Amino acid sequence: MQYDIAVVGAGLAGLQCARLLGARGLRVVLIDRKPSVAAPVQTTGIFVRKTWEDFPMPDEQLGPPIRDVVLYSPSRRMLALKAQRDEFRIGRMSWLYLYLLEECTKAGVHWMPDTRVRSLDEIPARFVIGADGARSTIAQLLGLDHNRELLVGVEEIVPPISREPVLHCFLDPRLAPGYIGWVANDGEEAHIGVAGYRERWNPAEALQEFRCSLPFRVGRSIEHRGGWIPVNGVLRNIANTRGLLVGDAAGAVSPLTAGGLDGAMRLSSLAADVAASYLDSGDARVLQPYSGARFQARFMARRWMRRAMTAAGVGGPTLIELAFTMLRTPPLRAIAEHVFFARGSFPDVSVSARASGPAAAPAPSA
Ligand SMILES: Cc1cc2nc3c(=O)[nH]c(=O)nc-3n(C[C@H](O)[C@H](O)[C@H](O)COP(=O)(O)OP(=O)(O)OC[C@H]3O[C@@H](n4cnc5c(N)ncnc54)[C@H](O)[C@@H]3O)c2cc1C
Repeated sequence: MQYDIAVVGAGLAGLQCARLLGARGLRVVLIDRKPSVAAPVQTTGIFVRKTWEDFPMPDEQLGPPIRDVVLYSPSRRMLALKAQRDEFRIGRMSWLYLYLLEECTKAGVHWMPDTRVRSLDEIPARFVIGADGARSTIAQLLGLDHNRELLVGVEEIVPPISREPVLHCFLDPRLAPGYIGWVANDGEEAHIGVAGYRERWNPAEALQEFRCSLPFRVGRSIEHRGGWIPVNGVLRNIANTRGLLVGDAAGAVSPLTAGGLDGAMRLSSLAADVAASYLDSGDARVLQPYSGARFQARFMARRWMRRAMTAAGVGGPTLIELAFTMLRTPPLRAIAEHVFFARGSFPDVSVSARASGPAAAPAPSA
């Protein structure tokens, strides 16, 4: 069978894109190398308020809301931040993926699991959407940009460490070089993880050491997760007349927080719009707005902050301790609160198309 569009990759970005395209009546095939969308999961699944406000999801698939964030210096001094509103919820990702797949099926999308795409000739479609993650094969096959700066993240899910929902973030350049260690506890489950630049460190050893160093009693591991995180910011060249990229494949991840779930939802909604109007009109000009250049200005400050964070890490724990002391001053504390609590993980994008029901496209807000 010949399809209008093949979406390669059934993570959050691919599922959202396929669902919106199917709802428009296009013949869509969704392909993934995994036999099931439910496993393995590669993300912690912390959603920011902006995402669940703009893309309503089934409430039971998001954990209890988190308002409290505690930052720790390398010597484990603490700084507590409290949000005025619910800011984070940890998604029950296997269930969310299954829910979105069911939405795709209802919209007429053909699901093709257990199929690893290695060449464009294998894809029975007029247009290809690369939603195949940080190290995208489709980006290479289409001759589009690909991610060059990547972190590795690894984590364990364990029983909750307390009833109080708190996001604990550990600045420790030895255990998490270039990023942080985290304990995301929503009172129902806790995720313990570290991320960093691969060339400088061993993720599995660092996670073990981090776990042992924690000031909480940690139960047995229930699940292991891990994967690559692109932190170069959204790529510039992400579309041509044969296809386009979404989600991690497009670098739609905050270089500072390394959060990509919001970007996956937001960019996919725009991609569905652009791909549908290109197939409808055959006019290559409709692809022009789908360029990373449009978002790169918004990523500039975060890329600089990432460089500062990396440089501070190279400077070692003493420099981070110093920076941490400064974080306690009101202006820098305000910046920290902004990073954690502002509605700014990924730029808003204009989308004219709307689909009804949960996880529909957001109203334009920029
Ligand atoms: C450990 C870790 C924790 C994270 N925690 C958070 C967090 O808490 N909050 C947040 O916002 N972001 C987080 N991120 C980032 C976030 O998970 C990603 O940005 C987001 O999940 C990307 O979704 P995606 O659909 O683009 O890619 P993915 O979820 O990676 O999906 C890509 C899919 O493509 C498939 N695929 C790949 N190659 C092929 C091929 N050749 N053929 C067929 N199928 C293929 C894969 O099997 C996969 O299903 C985390 C990342 C990691 C690694």
